[in-house]
Amino acid sequence: MKSIVIGAGMSGLCIGLILKKEGFEPVIYEKNKYAGGSFNSYRLKGYQIDTGLHFLTRAESGELPQLMRKYLGEDVFDSGFTSHKTYNFTFRGVSNPLPEGLGSLLKTNLFTRKGKIGFIRMFFDFLSLGRDGTESYKGYSPYDYIEKYVPDEKSFYFLNALCWMCSGSSLKDASLFRFVDGVIGGKTMKDFLPSPGKKKYPPDYYPVGGLKALPELFVRKGGLEVKLGSGVERIYTKQGKVTGVLVGGKRIPADIVVYGGLVSELPGLVDGLSKEEIRKFKDIKEYKAITLWVGFREKVADWKGESLVKVQENLGSPHWAVFLTDLNPDFAPKGHQLLGMSAILHKDKDEMVREMEQTLEEMLPGCSDKIDLKYVQVMRAEKALQDKSHPMWDLPDHRTSIRGLYLVGTDTKGYGNGGTLCADSARRCFERIREDSKVY
Ligand SMILES: Cc1cc2nc3c(=O)[nH]c(=O)nc-3n(C[C@H](O)[C@H](O)[C@H](O)COP(=O)(O)OP(=O)(O)OC[C@H]3O[C@@H](n4cnc5c(N)ncnc54)[C@H](O)[C@@H]3O)c2cc1C
Repeated sequence: MKSIVIGAGMSGLCIGLILKKEGFEPVIYEKNKYAGGSFNSYRLKGYQIDTGLHFLTRAESGELPQLMRKYLGEDVFDSGFTSHKTYNFTFRGVSNPLPEGLGSLLKTNLFTRKGKIGFIRMFFDFLSLGRDGTESYKGYSPYDYIEKYVPDEKSFYFLNALCWMCSGSSLKDASLFRFVDGVIGGKTMKDFLPSPGKKKYPPDYYPVGGLKALPELFVRKGGLEVKLGSGVERIYTKQGKVTGVLVGGKRIPADIVVYGGLVSELPGLVDGLSKEEIRKFKDIKEYKAITLWVGFREKVADWKGESLVKVQENLGSPHWAVFLTDLNPDFAPKGHQLLGMSAILHKDKDEMVREMEQTLEEMLPGCSDKIDLKYVQVMRAEKALQDKSHPMWDLPDHRTSIRGLYLVGTDTKGYGNGGTLCADSARRCFERIREDSKVY
């Protein structure tokens, strides 16, 4: 069967890799001159910066690392990656690492004693909600639960910071699905307890060549055929079935087409989608992140590869900062340091930049006279905001009403966000393709 993937973002590369290894001979068409979509790096005034601060989360159990181990080899992380140590959450000037399990949760100062008890009670409640099924908490935000269980300000603001980082919204606006289904899923208490041989809380990975090294690895090690600078202008169908695509004025036949661009733009590329699909696709809201990149002409701090997260004392997004030069010193001229600070863009951009500059001064007092690069980057953080009125299960399925046309990406159904969702949506998409290819 001849298959085509539209878009070489991380989702397109994930499904491309699965299709290739499962014998579907895919060709990937990408409109940009580089692969990776939102996973990219570029040079700026002697520094190498990424498209925002990114890590491959949950290196042991996460969907993206698992997919990479399965299809690129068990040894894929043996070289070319470095691990990110921890997130130090700071609240009112006091910093504590993110708890990694029950033991560190009981010890942390991020929660008050009452807050810890409330959090554990809430966790058990989430386990039972997960068993009752998604219908039992439709339309709820985490706030509806946290308000009941976590009575103090300190614990509340810490959970709010975590919520922004996991979902792109505050405790009040996020979807409870993200935490109950996305984290707890069909698990039981046993799955959360440490067991011999099982890592307690695995670190996150970072590709040492910068973010762009990840898509490059997929293409090189996966042997993927990617046509760069080749935007798909049209998807052709006949009698409700996909027949091919139009690229650079040329018609290319295909039995299977997987679309990995913005789902909201799909109705402009193909005829024959149902009214319900078009309504759903156009209803998807994306959201953006803001990153302040700062280059220092001399060493200003040693964070040893750890992140600092400033918890906001309101419902605003936290400020998350990492020295990229801790992960790879080559990202800056010799002796210089490069720091990135990201937050979810949720109010006026200039106001957010001012607040982030203030955070920078708090994190690194007196650093401003050593700055030789300051650059503000605004990027799409996720193609779909999964808030309480748009939970993940309301996102489009991977099978469309046109036979042979499938969807993949962070604006389709699946668990998590970012790379996790790229890999999970690709896995789900392939399940559909495999089911259907038995029928064709
Ligand atoms: C500041 C920031 C921090 C983040 N942190 C993390 C993190 O720590 N971990 C994590 O995993 N994720 C993180 N993310 C999110 C992650 O970058 C995205 O969710 C993910 O890269 C989206 O992948 P995608 O394949 O769904 O979409 P995209 O990357 O948008 O890929 C879609 C691709 O399709 C192409 N395309 C579209 N239409 C066509 C067409 N007609 N023809 C050909 N090509 C087409 C586009 O050019 C693009 O390359 C972060 C994002 C930001 C901005």
